[in-house]
Amino acid sequence: MSPQAELELINGLQRALDSQRLRMVYQPKVSVRDGGLRQLEALVRWEDPELGPVKPSQFVPLAEEHGLIHELTQWGLRTILKQWLEWRDQGLDTCIAFNISALSVQHLDFPDLVERMCRALGVPTDRLVLELTEGATQPLVKLIDALTRFRIKGIGLAIDDFGTGYSSLMQLRQLPFTEVKIDQAFVADVPNSRDSRLIIQAVTDLAHGLGLTATAEGVETLDQLRIMRELGCDYVQGYLISAPLQPDAVKPWIQKFRRAWPAMIADEKLALFGDVEANTLGEWQI
Ligand code: C2E
Ligand code: MG
Ligand code: MG
Repeated sequence: MSPQAELELINGLQRALDSQRLRMVYQPKVSVRDGGLRQLEALVRWEDPELGPVKPSQFVPLAEEHGLIHELTQWGLRTILKQWLEWRDQGLDTCIAFNISALSVQHLDFPDLVERMCRALGVPTDRLVLELTEGATQPLVKLIDALTRFRIKGIGLAIDDFGTGYSSLMQLRQLPFTEVKIDQAFVADVPNSRDSRLIIQAVTDLAHGLGLTATAEGVETLDQLRIMRELGCDYVQGYLISAPLQPDAVKPWIQKFRRAWPAMIADEKLALFGDVEANTLGEWQI
């Protein structure tokens, strides 16, 4: 990206933050055993009037580089905590997973800040899971103090996109994670790749041995879902289950999915396949 395009994006992001134009969508993670809702992962969305839709993979790294990440993180936290309260008032008591930049975690007072925000709004800390990704410049091992503090406060910790980039098996033992999210690249390959299958099996077994849960990301087909069940993964997430949803689409999705689940894990794929396939077209619910 040219420096000018970067500048335009950063200015646009600052305007979006100032004018409350960012929003969150929520993607369900469900249990492979019974299809029950486990967590909702919050994913930020930015539709700019001039730039159009901008992907988080474009603007999150820029926000990190240009000092906007802390503001983005705080906005995100406030938004999801308020959303949790709204759902709780409608009878839905769930956990929200929130993607967080390792840069935000570097601030020593950050775990206290998160706890204070939860307390001020009355959200139990154990309803929050932070998802972190290993980066070249931000080894998670360096964050062990902050990560431990989050755990002491009851906040869950997931290592995201596991198996790609710089993540290593050692981290699962050294750091106080509660969940491993197996990267979607392995899940995409699994029906045709013996290696991917072996890797998923090994990561899942290791996670269980260390007392962590294993979630498969990017599950798009019934085949992949069935293999994840066979390999003993605990939770699945992906377009097969649901695209990321607008907040008010979550409760209707729960009803619909409860009815759809038995057919998804039964041998005959068909009855609802058309319905499910519609989801794979993208975020049509949003
Ligand atoms: P992630 O946390 O690994 O999120 C998963 C990404 O995969 C999301 O992309 C999601 O929309 C997409 N996805 C979900 N199901 C499927 C599927 O079945 N197939 C495929 N191909 N993709 C699927 P998204 O929303 O564009 O987010 C990309 C990344 O940006 C996230 O990866 C996360 O690292 C980061 N991100 C998103 N929201 C936030 C945020 O609020 N704060 C921070 N710091 N980072 C965020
Ligand atoms: Mg994530
Ligand atoms: Mg991921």
